[in-house]
Amino acid sequence: MNVPLSCPDISQREIDYVNRVLTTNVLSIGPVQREFEEKFAAYVGTRYAVAVSSGTAALHLCVRALGIGSQDEVLTTSFSFVASANCLRYEGALPLFVDIDSETLNIDPEVIREFIRRHCEFDRNSASLIDKRTGRRVKAILPVHVFGLPCDMNAILEIAHEYGMYIIEDACEAIGAEYRGLRVGGFGEAAAFAFYPNKQMTTAEGGMVVTNDEKVARLCRSMRNQGRGDDPSWLEHVRLGYNYRLSELHCALGLAQLERIEELLTAREKAAAAYTRALSGHPLIVQPHAAAEPKRSWFVYVAQVNGPSLLRDRILIRLREHGIGCQAYFPAVHRQPYFGESDLKYQQPLPRTERAAGRCLALPFFSRITKEQIDFVCNTLLEAVEEESATQLLESVPFR
Ligand SMILES: *Cc1c(COP(=O)(O)O)cnc(C)c1O
Repeated sequence: MNVPLSCPDISQREIDYVNRVLTTNVLSIGPVQREFEEKFAAYVGTRYAVAVSSGTAALHLCVRALGIGSQDEVLTTSFSFVASANCLRYEGALPLFVDIDSETLNIDPEVIREFIRRHCEFDRNSASLIDKRTGRRVKAILPVHVFGLPCDMNAILEIAHEYGMYIIEDACEAIGAEYRGLRVGGFGEAAAFAFYPNKQMTTAEGGMVVTNDEKVARLCRSMRNQGRGDDPSWLEHVRLGYNYRLSELHCALGLAQLERIEELLTAREKAAAAYTRALSGHPLIVQPHAAAEPKRSWFVYVAQVNGPSLLRDRILIRLREHGIGCQAYFPAVHRQPYFGESDLKYQQPLPRTERAAGRCLALPFFSRITKEQIDFVCNTLLEAVEEESATQLLESVPFR
């Protein structure tokens, strides 16, 4: 049995909507984009939504629209997909990685406070937080709702307000997740969503900026379309822009998926419950954090192997040998080879991030996964855990 790590869920509706666009003469910047944006904003609960070519592009535009640049630093997490740090580095801003909560795997607001106490001072004249080591402004917090679980937004908002910092939510893994009854994406100045094929809903490639700030929305619309002025009928470029547009075909796919979002999220929730039942009670398998509040949107099913990273790696190889798609997900961003010595000059130790990165194991997870597939994955996993942990024990016996 081959079980992929992820798989999109495309119905006849998606096919019909995309085909309909193909019978028109408008393949980009048209009515489907407008409808997709309006319905997406309504779903998330923000005033504006701007469709772009990827989640990474969405994050990049959020950073630029808020004027974050080379004299700025941003507090964020290293337990994430690289894009949430890269969007800062594109603009020369320094990501300040803050350690996570071991239970939720999200950025820990207490560690943010500790960092501020130790390294920052508040400049009352400019009402900004300054990193005493570099003299640069700590301009924003970029929380990532990791694996679809909302961050502790009350604590993060409180810190941001206290020190005059912006919030950019990386909600790329968290469409439909709720924090105190509100869907994520509207808590800060701007947020990014992503529609890569492994996400809860897909446009093949694509992303969305959402915001309640009219100026941010206007800047993002302009920058995604080569920096055009407010009247797009003229070839007048009033600022540096990009081609971050999302075609009508992609938007049609997204519109159909958005109309099915409750069905897609419910199917994933059921798959997660089946995993949880099948894996419960095993001492070497730590299941994803479970609580009624905040409400997770199930993006991936990531278990942790309660042992050294070598054990996790061996189990992962065994699963792959059985045709099971799985991934050591996430590796820590600051440990990626493209982060050089000089990039990490001001980096704090991140013991909890590194521990989680060495233990986590993403299992096959998608809306149409069957009970049989889940049972096969779990039986193979538990078998691999038994055998590999026994080998591990033997090898750790000291040589006599
Ligand atoms: C998927 C994802 C993104 C954006 O990915 P794209 O491939 O550019 O659409 C950004 N941040 C996180 C945490 C993600 O999971």
